Amino acid sequence: MSSKGQHRPVLLSVLLERESANVKIKKPEIVHGLANQSKKGEDFTMLKTECQRTMGDGVTTFSVFGLFDGHNGPAAAIYSKENLLNNVLNAIPPDLNTDEWVDALPRALVAGFVKTDKDFQEREKISGTTVTLVIIEGWVITVASVGDSRCIFDSAVGGIYYLSADHRLDCSEEERGRITASGGDIGRLNAGCGTEIGPLRCWPGGLCLSRSIGDRDVGEFIVPVPYVKQIKISTAGGRMIISSDGVWDALSAEAALDCCRGMPPDAAAAQIVKEALRADGLRDDTTCIVIDILPQEKRAVPSTTPKKRVKRLFMSLFRKKPSESSSRSDKKYKGPDAVEVLFEEGSAMLSKRLDTKYPVCNMFKLLMCAICQLELKPGEGISVHAGPSSSVKLCQGDGPFLCSSCQVKKEAMEWIRPSGDGYSGEND
Ligand SMILES: [Zn+2]
Repeated sequence: MSSKGQHRPVLLSVLLERESANVKIKKPEIVHGLANQSKKGEDFTMLKTECQRTMGDGVTTFSVFGLFDGHNGPAAAIYSKENLLNNVLNAIPPDLNTDEWVDALPRALVAGFVKTDKDFQEREKISGTTVTLVIIEGWVITVASVGDSRCIFDSAVGGIYYLSADHRLDCSEEERGRITASGGDIGRLNAGCGTEIGPLRCWPGGLCLSRSIGDRDVGEFIVPVPYVKQIKISTAGGRMIISSDGVWDALSAEAALDCCRGMPPDAAAAQIVKEALRADGLRDDTTCIVIDILPQEKRAVPSTTPKKRVKRLFMSLFRKKPSESSSRSDKKYKGPDAVEVLFEEGSAMLSKRLDTKYPVCNMFKLLMCAICQLELKPGEGISVHAGPSSSVKLCQGDGPFLCSSCQVKKEAMEWIRPSGDGYSGEND
């Protein structure tokens, strides 16, 4: 329970020595806690620490945590909680080894988010949800997010890392441009007498987010394509916090981490929610998940005592304002203790998101829809690179391919209004 970390230098050096000696380091111990104060009953969570995956030579486990902050009713949040993970896992080819599986995750997350949104919108027109989905495999953390719940990681060896995007209209000029080009109108609430109040919203509908699952009534330009960030953490571990906007509207990342140092995850989550309510009162559903990722040798709360100087260094390296279309170059800083960014991408364009390298050994995947995994007959698939309304069937090399139904979805999401007319991207 001590936060002084007297033994840390020895432990870390031992771990690093083993790592360099190429000794396989055990998977981390994952301990989590959850706290929630409900106002509308539209926040839902997923906490799974023992998901099983069959590999060529046995069974391995990974952990999944999710936060779904619904709006205009709970339907989209409940539907996503029940279906999203399966849709993601179904988009990963079978029989991959661990490294290949981790490599395939960013693309599978995009496919799973879009499929979940498409399937939900075929059932319900109203309600939407933010999603923050975290998958932990060994020491690799992959986070996919739409909306404004936030996920941060505090490394035991120093540094706070922001693993999710803020898809608020207030936060991204690029997203505002994308939406207005697709026919949405953006403005603040008119309080009468020419006074505008509150955050920027998208009209019709008045949603202040640019991405979500659901929200068909708002428009197809509110897309479900997630920002995805994948990092490899040091084997010293650290603490992760996933919270809905109720927490982050009241507390900074530093304040949330500082208020619960030394506490086990359950108490830490409760403390963060309490601090957020003390600052702002219960104005919205307020949910917090705290996850400690610990070396197995050290089954105690990680000592995340701030190391201000080190922290500032790392933050200048990594605390980049999440751009909606950041590239994957220049992200590989390798220090012995640092978090290594393996992947980061936020573009809303499917041709960019589904075109990443895919395990080539799974050639049969070329004959399946990259979003819904429907099997395609020869000549049936439409290249994800095909332009709007193009009926040209490209050749095999121009995959990945979409089925006709997913192609309709893609065109609706990426439709650009030709002349500033009203939105006309409604489909089906
Ligand atoms: Zn499809």
